[in-house]
Amino acid sequence: MATYIVLLGPPGAGKGTQAQIIAKEFGLMHVSSGDLFRENLKNQTELGKLAKGFMDRGELVPDDVTIAMVKDRISRLDCEKGVLLDGFPRTPAQAEALGEMLKGLGSKVDCVPYISVPAEVLIERLSGRWTCPACGRVYHEKFNPPTQAGVCDADGGALIQRDDDKSETVERRIRVYGEQTAPLIAYYRNLGVLAEVDGTQSIEEVGKLMLAAIRKVA
Ligand code: AMP
Repeated sequence: MATYIVLLGPPGAGKGTQAQIIAKEFGLMHVSSGDLFRENLKNQTELGKLAKGFMDRGELVPDDVTIAMVKDRISRLDCEKGVLLDGFPRTPAQAEALGEMLKGLGSKVDCVPYISVPAEVLIERLSGRWTCPACGRVYHEKFNPPTQAGVCDADGGALIQRDDDKSETVERRIRVYGEQTAPLIAYYRNLGVLAEVDGTQSIEEVGKLMLAAIRKVA
């Protein structure tokens, strides 16, 4: 049966980095709603144009379009062994929709690793973040620098700073997370699938804790 894992945590908790480790370990498809939106933005699709304003302001894209986009992605053949969702769901309505979607596939959310990190640490982390636009790998100038400054270790691409990683937007994104996404912690705890991990430790340590938590249930 397919395995479905939802990575939960505030922006800057290290979800993208951990997602790559987990997806590889469990042979799951990494589906990041933020990456899907950025891809649409790059290709200038209707969806991309609609999402741009929300993303630039650090707000959430409306539920209906976000749900439709993720539903389309996870119903493709390359997701049949299971999916690691990163950045989705981000509202209670999205969580309900995901539950319904998986029920339709005879499945459910198996595990929700929740990376907890205090707000002040998040701001510091997000402001020094650099991303490879080609492969999506994320670096930090202080905590996780590439071997050569400004260059991706994986594919040699030039690293960029995302528009929404600029400081005012960062604060807005953290606030939006607190208001709209944090309620999902209790939602998944009630379903008995939440596995909380202290995200202030090193990337390797957080990775080990996450893998151990997932192995218990998945
Ligand atoms: P991320 O890369 O996950 O931080 O997402 C970047 C931006 O894409 C967010 O600030 C939102 O504007 C948008 N976005 C990503 N995922 C979602 C979602 N599940 N619901 C609504 N908006 C989203």
